[in-house]
Amino acid sequence: MKKHNFNAGPCVLPRQAVESAIEAIRDFDGTGIGLLEISHRTPGWERIMAETEQLWRELLNIPEEYAVFFVGGGASTQFFQVPANLLKNKAAYLQTGVWAKKAAKEAKYYGDVEIVASSEDKNYTYIPKDYTIPADADYFHITTNNTIYGTEIHEDIDCPITLVADMSSDIMSRPVDVKKYGMIYGGAQKNVGPAGVTFVIIRKDLLGSSERKLQTMVDYSTHYPEEARNRSMFNTPPVLPIFVMHETLKWVKELGGVEVMYKMNKEKAELLYNEIDRNSMFVGTAVKEDRSLMNVCFVMAPGKEALQDEFFAFAKERGMVGIKGHRSVGGFRASLYNACPKESVEALVACMQEFENLHK
Ligand SMILES: *Cc1c(COP(=O)(O)O)cnc(C)c1O
Repeated sequence: MKKHNFNAGPCVLPRQAVESAIEAIRDFDGTGIGLLEISHRTPGWERIMAETEQLWRELLNIPEEYAVFFVGGGASTQFFQVPANLLKNKAAYLQTGVWAKKAAKEAKYYGDVEIVASSEDKNYTYIPKDYTIPADADYFHITTNNTIYGTEIHEDIDCPITLVADMSSDIMSRPVDVKKYGMIYGGAQKNVGPAGVTFVIIRKDLLGSSERKLQTMVDYSTHYPEEARNRSMFNTPPVLPIFVMHETLKWVKELGGVEVMYKMNKEKAELLYNEIDRNSMFVGTAVKEDRSLMNVCFVMAPGKEALQDEFFAFAKERGMVGIKGHRSVGGFRASLYNACPKESVEALVACMQEFENLHK
């Protein structure tokens, strides 16, 4: 049976990215040696590294005054690396979920943290909009897509101070005006690759701007030295995750780039949200205007709660994988990242309709 993969991360990847990784593991770049067995200083690898940076720049239209590099440690490492590098006295955070909360917690090791607004009162089902960004903070940190709750900040906000964004789960899903941000980071494993590599986009004047004595690996400037061939190569880079990311970005480019992804993502999300709103068995959990294009969260409608396990089993029999909601929200979550095909969303919608008919 065909499987429809709605996992929240790690999650579905473009088939061609997976296939070419398998081939590269057998024989990298026609060298007769596998990707996992070469030196990261071989010219073939240096080319992949340079192309990966180039693809990021091209697809997201990243201006020259920004550095782009890749490191290990996941977005969770950035939670402390951001304040280590950028927090002098005070930082401001928008608390839109547990990832945002975890990011703020790490910042407290380095200085004062002001939570400008939080939607914890309603289990993060909305994005707070009525808040003031303190002018005296060193930066303002946001989480653009809240993977667990299915809410998303759909626009690049205007921010009078340095804006830092965790875009782990919506990077490359829509065009971004990079100039509005001081820094953008995230784990690759939601929308641009497998687990094991983290992307960092940072305005060059912020590199090495810290007054704090930093460990070499923590200091952002280490990962983007003058000499291009040493970028993302201070230590041994995670070659396999980077290779899969490289192939994923090539796939995005072949399909027409981020604008095309955005169009496809809007279509997929609309299909599923329309069904949730129409179907008498289910209700969405996020406030409509803040609904994420990436993670669609829903629960059984009032009075139908007892049917939840039955729907899980019903959907599983029809090939649906990974639709269980995060434990803090319950119910269902379907993640519709770039590589999730429209056919999978159509299959889920059909499954929901079938289930409704069965219980009429
Ligand atoms: C998954 C996720 C993280 C954690 O990423 P790791 O790479 O596992 O550390 C952080 N922020 C957001 C928004 C996420 O979705």
